[in-house]
Amino acid sequence: MYNILIINAGSSSLKYQLFEIESSEIIAKGLAERIGIEGSMLTHSAKDKEKLVITEPMPSHLEAMKLVLKALTDPEYGVIKDMKEINAVGHRVLHAADKFTQSVIINDDVIAAIRDCIKFGPLHNPANLMGIEACRANMPDTPMVAVFDTAFHQTMPRKAYLYGLSYEAYTKYGIRRYGFHGTSHKYLSSRFPKLIGRDKKDLKFVTCHLGNGSSMCAIDGGKCVDTSMGLTPLAGVPMGTRCGDIDPAIVPYLMKEMNLTPDQMSNYMNKQCGMLGLSGVSSDFRDLWAAAENNNERAKIALEVFCYNVKKYIGAYAAAMGGLDGIVFSGGIGENDARVRKLCTEGLEFLGAKLDPERNKGRDKEMRISADDSRVEIWCVATNEEFEIAQETYELCCK
Ligand code: ADP
Repeated sequence: MYNILIINAGSSSLKYQLFEIESSEIIAKGLAERIGIEGSMLTHSAKDKEKLVITEPMPSHLEAMKLVLKALTDPEYGVIKDMKEINAVGHRVLHAADKFTQSVIINDDVIAAIRDCIKFGPLHNPANLMGIEACRANMPDTPMVAVFDTAFHQTMPRKAYLYGLSYEAYTKYGIRRYGFHGTSHKYLSSRFPKLIGRDKKDLKFVTCHLGNGSSMCAIDGGKCVDTSMGLTPLAGVPMGTRCGDIDPAIVPYLMKEMNLTPDQMSNYMNKQCGMLGLSGVSSDFRDLWAAAENNNERAKIALEVFCYNVKKYIGAYAAAMGGLDGIVFSGGIGENDARVRKLCTEGLEFLGAKLDPERNKGRDKEMRISADDSRVEIWCVATNEEFEIAQETYELCCK
């Protein structure tokens, strides 16, 4: 029996899942919130058990991790007797720049590398490190793996990852496209070929991870050859609250007009733009559709802009790869929003991609939604980042 603990540490939160390899199931999960501030709370739920809420001070991730282990081993609410039953820990880490092309066992060098990438992931990487340190302190004998959001995209050729800036911006400052959501795109890159019964080596397809953050990925022969996010997760299609691709000249222009500092401008582009900024209603697509049905013009505009941009990326990646065999929708929106999927693929018949309107209304976790006469297979596939992280951690530590 192998159990892998998956940790996703934020600046004041710590999400965890205990994944059982044999059954490919999450047997317990939870969230520690308000770490370091008043009102710290841990919510824990386990398979076939009642929910547990612990309200105890958690001055740092260290105490949070202690409580996580306490909850997991609790005789009444837990699922294991001893923390030794956790065979390895897999940590989600945002940014590894070009230092790692795959998941790695955590040692001092890896920690130093993650620290070195704080400049590109100033919010996430320090929090990820706190999660790693908290685990190290509480379970010093358990092997740990870092699973990077950027790793899967390291196969991009330089023509895809370089920007049209000076070459020194790249060599001196490391400015290039890195890409994110790598764990999700990687999972989809191997799941989709299996679903259609083809070898991934022979396939060119686009994965659309559409959620609060959205990213697109061009996958050729099983490898990422391009992706829509960039140096940071702000680039690409417009998202819930992030602006996505814009003319770079807008940045200094708006900073002057709106009298914003660099940090305020960054906050504006990350938190007040995208669907929320365009619609003035919400960043959530369910709210946007409800408003659009009530004739809210700006909600309609936001939905149009989003779907148009997703479609544009599909077309661009088909051209970049010189062919297209599949389109895969995933993430909270991609998996649930049939209307978005319809708008994103409308008019792509010239590429050989034709949606089946009835299949598209289905609710299955994995389903083909293209028409029988569509040359391109269009699918809806629930992503499973936990599976991917647990599997990679297991491979590195337990085999
Ligand atoms: P994250 O990027 O934070 O992981 P998710 O992938 O869970 O986010 O996606 C969350 C988003 O998915 C929500 O903000 C909402 O816009 C959208 N969403 C979730 N369920 C539905 C639904 N049934 N219909 C339309 N959109 C949905």
